[in-house]
Amino acid sequence: MAEPGRVPRALRLCRGCEQFVVPGPAACHFCGGDLAELDRAHAEKQAAIRRAAEALRDALAARGIAV
Ligand SMILES: [Zn+2]
Repeated sequence: MAEPGRVPRALRLCRGCEQFVVPGPAACHFCGGDLAELDRAHAEKQAAIRRAAEALRDALAARGIAV
């Protein structure tokens, strides 16, 4: 339990194991993953998901299906 009146430290989400870790070390305390590399891979996956969703919307719109 944190002391009253103290602001808790901001934590960083590990994209490898979905645990919150203290910022600073390059590797996750839980899974040992490279946090920067995991962030980069996560951003790439998110961009691919956005592109797929746009392609799906366009394909549906071309067939007159509104989403
Ligand atoms: Zn991790």
